[in-house]
Amino acid sequence: MIQTFQLRTTQQTEFIEITDGVQEAVKKTGIENGLCIIFVPHTTAAITINEHADPSVSRDILMELNKMVPLSDHYRHLEGNSPAHIKSTLLGCSQIVPVEKGRLALGTWQGIFFCEFDGPRSRKVHIKVIPEER
Ligand code: ZN
Repeated sequence: MIQTFQLRTTQQTEFIEITDGVQEAVKKTGIENGLCIIFVPHTTAAITINEHADPSVSRDILMELNKMVPLSDHYRHLEGNSPAHIKSTLLGCSQIVPVEKGRLALGTWQGIFFCEFDGPRSRKVHIKVIPEER
């Protein structure tokens, strides 16, 4: 079973922490040990894991990504959102987190972030938990 939750982004580019929502989805499965896959079915968004204690960290990452991939260049994609597609590919559309005793085995400073690169939009996140073999 895949669980899907929706979120609405409010900026053109932003990181939104979704750790609590993912943990909730893991809890609903009742699976104690295994792997949690977090996947976005979008080509201009991504999933990343990084520090959540200081919100400046995700702002800095976004600032540097926006420098690495300029908003305007000689892009060929006529839709005009090539920078968003490129940033999506750089960060990737999924992450895997081990599940131990029903909890995401994240480090103290780690949080799971939905990364918007072509907002504001309505977005989806899929969660799949694979139980450990007995
Ligand atoms: Zn496009």
